[in-house]
This record gives sequence, structure tokens and C-alpha cells, in this order.
Amino acid sequence: MTEIIEEGIVNEGGLNFVEQEIKDDLAAGKNGGRLSTRFPPEPNGYLHIGHAKAFIMDFGAAEKFGGTCNLRFDDTNPQKEDMEYVNSIMRDIHWLGYDWGDRLYYASDYFPQLFDLAIRLIKEGKAYVDEQTSEEIARQKGTPTVPGTNSPYRDRPIEENLDLFIRMNKGEFDEGSMVLRAKIDMANSNMHFRDPIMYRIIKTPHWRTGTDWKVYPMYDYAHGQSDYFEGVTHSICTLEFVPHRPLYEYFVKELADESYCPRQIEFNRLNLTYTVMSKRKLLQLVKENLVNGWDDPRMPTLCGLRRRGYTPSAIKDFINRIGYTKYEALNHIELLEHAVREDLNKTATRVSAVVNPVKLILTNYPEGVEETFEMDNNPENLEEGKHPMPFTRELWIEREDFMENPPKKFFRLSPDKEVRLKGAYIIKCTGLKKNENGEIEEIYAEYDPDTRSGLPGSDRKVKGTLHWVSVPHAVNVEVRDYDRLFAVENPSAEEGDFRELLNPDSLKIRTNVMLEPWAAEQSKPEDHFQFTRLGYYTVDPDSTSEKLVFNKTIGLKDTWAKEQKKASK
Ligand code: ATP
Ligand code: MG
Repeated sequence: MTEIIEEGIVNEGGLNFVEQEIKDDLAAGKNGGRLSTRFPPEPNGYLHIGHAKAFIMDFGAAEKFGGTCNLRFDDTNPQKEDMEYVNSIMRDIHWLGYDWGDRLYYASDYFPQLFDLAIRLIKEGKAYVDEQTSEEIARQKGTPTVPGTNSPYRDRPIEENLDLFIRMNKGEFDEGSMVLRAKIDMANSNMHFRDPIMYRIIKTPHWRTGTDWKVYPMYDYAHGQSDYFEGVTHSICTLEFVPHRPLYEYFVKELADESYCPRQIEFNRLNLTYTVMSKRKLLQLVKENLVNGWDDPRMPTLCGLRRRGYTPSAIKDFINRIGYTKYEALNHIELLEHAVREDLNKTATRVSAVVNPVKLILTNYPEGVEETFEMDNNPENLEEGKHPMPFTRELWIEREDFMENPPKKFFRLSPDKEVRLKGAYIIKCTGLKKNENGEIEEIYAEYDPDTRSGLPGSDRKVKGTLHWVSVPHAVNVEVRDYDRLFAVENPSAEEGDFRELLNPDSLKIRTNVMLEPWAAEQSKPEDHFQFTRLGYYTVDPDSTSEKLVFNKTIGLKDTWAKEQKKASK
């Protein structure tokens, strides 16, 4: 999986290979020319961007070809599942703009039919109750090249199997003491055919069906049948299910005929650099407080990306660019960030904020005077209009925009040098004051009234332009800066404990950020801004009337575009 593919392959009609298969099936009149897909999450965690790749395919293909897409919760394991996850999953799918209408289903809806089918298979001699331990069963499985061995319970009489299975479900036996297995072929070259387990005993109550059931179906037995019961025609999933497909077809054949039969198609999962995508690992990060919840802005979960400031259109654009193939790949997170930047560049309002402030005093500017400058809300789209920004004698500027002893190519502010204050005046530095620790406390400058933005003469060229915020008007806000959650490019490929690969500096909180007043008045949770010269920032729901909190969504520097340029040279 070291190979990195970025662009998906699409055919001439702009269809990816799954869509092409669907189109062909529809053209051939399969299933009466009907298209029905489904997205089948297990409610044992929050959705991440990999799941988005899956459901964009499921809902997207249905939209494209006039079909329907079901949302089906694969709630077959009461030990790990929870209502909280169900709700979050529905919220996240809606956020990306998809809806299942009245087609909301649960695998648990089919427990009665699945049980009936199991009874039928037992009666037909196609299933048996095995009383061995899971270790014994595993030992007998063999390997892909060595055939397995038959269980000593494989040929027990049908009546005994029936009796035991019904009593398993009544709760007469302990968890782990017996399972129902399909009687297929212990020597099959496909390991999944070696008498797969259909049912196990679980005594934990189910959040929907309570204590009605003591036996729960395994994925391979439940999934294809659920597809069938719902009338699903195309069961689209990820490549790890390729070896399961023959078994999917084996069980489905027990129900289907030529007039209607669901079909499984597999595509490559999304893997991202510097990211883990396993629900088990993400759950561990949350449970062990290594992040601040499922929606921590460093998480690859959809609610995390949302809180970080990523947009549905950027996520869809990214998924569209990487495409769907039959090859495992590792995608660069920079491409996702590039898509986010492109989207926010079109929509985010430009405002001024100083994240590491130092005071600049314009000694020749009258005290007590206030001017107002009109600033473009988005120079990429002038129809977005302008907003007012107050200017006074005392301004906040970035500490990094000043150097007392600058190197040659430093074009920002330094003693005796000129810069433009964005949208206002050209100023010249005349001095500075330090505190007892030698830190710069105040910078002094004189402004040139003839360079007022918008006046004739305002086009005089200087090399640097700085952003600024008026000191008496500034609103003190908090900014949370994020870096990659993991310090290594492919954390899933490393041996050992993945938690040791976490980047210890992935969150930096700045409490002393100065924001222009108009922006502070506008801000409500999830609003996106570009802080001029710094990056894109999004209002966090932790904001209160006392203190606004912003998440840094992404910096302005586009490492992806730069790499692409270099590569094309
Ligand atoms: P697990 O089954 O280990 O709990 P999962 O991530 O596969 O984890 P599911 O709830 O079964 O969780 O996933 C729902 C659907 O999302 C499945 O069809 C699965 O193939 C798809 N999916 C999961 N992870 C990815 C991914 N990284 N890229 C694309 N699709 C994914
Ligand atoms: Mg899964």
C-alpha cells in the first residue's frame, strides 16, 4: 500500500468504473432496470472521511441514475453499538447534503427473517451447531494452502441442530459455548467458505430489540440477506470485501432468482497520510482523552473536519479528484487541504486579525482621531462588497512583521524602513521601546498622509504590506492552531503502538489574538473567515458572548499546488 495514486480513473463519459457497471446493468435491464443502493454503517463510532467516500458513491450513484439509496444501520453487535452513533451518522450524512427520505432501515429489522432462513438452512442440512471453543474452530480453519479439518459436530442430526439453535436463542447456553455454522466446505480455497459462523450468542441487550434475541447474525450472513430484503440492486463496498463476495452470493442465492438479485461491487478505500482511519483507533483516541472528543478538529471524522472549518463542497471535490479505483492507495492530505483552500478562497470573508500582537504607535497621527477605511470582503469576488474598519494612532501588528536587525530580504517593518498598512497609509519606522527583559514593547512610526488609500499618490510602491487592527477597537479572541495529529506519514504502516506516533504539538492555543470589531460582531459558530495574510479560520461552537473562539482551518500557503508545479516543470 506504499503506492500513492492521486487522480482517479474515469472513462470518457466522466463515469468511474462502479458507475459504468451500474450503467451497463441498467442498460441490460437487470432487476427490471431498477437501481437501489445502500449505505450500511455500523453504529459503533462516528463517520470519518473514508465513510464519506463510500456514501458519496452510494447516494451519488443513485442520484446520477435516478435510483434510490437506503440508509441501513448494521446493528448486529449490541456490545459495541449505541444510539449516540446513530444520531451522529444521520447528522453527518445530512451535512454533506444527502438524504435517504423514508428509506431508513436497521439490520435488526430483519432478525426474524434471518432467523427463519437459518432454521430453513438447518432443516436442509446446510447449517449446524458447533460446540467447540473459538480457539478450536480457528485451529481447524487451515491456511489458504492447507485445507481445514471438519468439526466433530459437523454431522450431528438435523433435529439436534434445530433444538440446540432454538435453545441458544432462548438464552439456555453461555456466550461463547456454541455457534451456528454454515456447512459448506472445509477444504475450499476461499477461506470464507470453510464453514463460516452464521450466529453467535450475545446476552447484552440490544438498544433496539432489547432482550428479544440471544443469538446475533454475523456480517457475512446478515449483509447480503439484508440487501435482498430491501431490494438493493448494487451493494457497493470496499476492496477488503472482495474475498467475501462468493459467500455473499452463496447466501443470497438461498433467496434470490433471475428476476432480482443484488450484486456486490468493490472499490478502494480512502487512506490519508498523517491520519488513522480505523474506527477502533479513533475510538481509543476519544476514550483515552488523547483528543477532545469525536469532533476534535484534528480528527478525520466528519464532525471534526466540520468543526475545523472544512466544507461539504471541499470534501466532495476532494473525493471526486481522487476517484474510485480497484487499487489500494494512500492519498496525500495536502490534496484535501488544497480543495479546502480553493473552496474557502471563493467564499470566506476577508478580515484583519493579529495573532501575535505588538503595539505600533504612529507618533505624527493625532490622538483621539478615528478614521474609517472600507475593506473588500473578498477581492476574488467584489460583489461581496466592503466593510468598515477603524484606524487610529495605536495599532496592533504581528510581532513577526517587525525585525530590529533584519536580513537583506526582509521586506516588512524595521528601523527607518517603509511599509504599507493594508488599505490605509504608508508608514516609516522611527524607533522602538523594549521592556526590562529586552522584549520589544512598542514600535514607533510616522505615517505619510499623502499615501492615504484611494487618494491620488496612494499608489506609491513599497515592498511590504502589513495587516493591522486598531488598538482601542480590537476584540480579544482565542485562536486554536492545529498541526497534523500524527508525526509520521503513514501511521497505520508502523509497527508498535500507534499512540506513540501522535504529534505532541498538534494543538496550540493563542489567547491574545486581536480581531477587528466588524468581524467579531458578525461571528457565529461555523462561520468561515480569511484572516488576511494568515489563513482560513472558523468560529468554534465553544465561543461565548464573553469570548469568541476560532479554529485555524488551514494556512494560506498551498503546499499541494507548489508540489504540482514543481513536478510539472
Ligand atoms: P469496521 O467495520 O471495522 O467497524 P468500517 O470503517 O468498515 O469499520 P462500517 O460502519 O462497516 O465501518 O463502514 C460503513 C461503510 O463505509 C462500509 O461499506 C465500508 O466499506 C465503508 N468504509 C469504511 N472505511 C472506509 C474508507 N476508509 N474508505 C472508503 N470506504 C470506507
Ligand atoms: Mg466495515
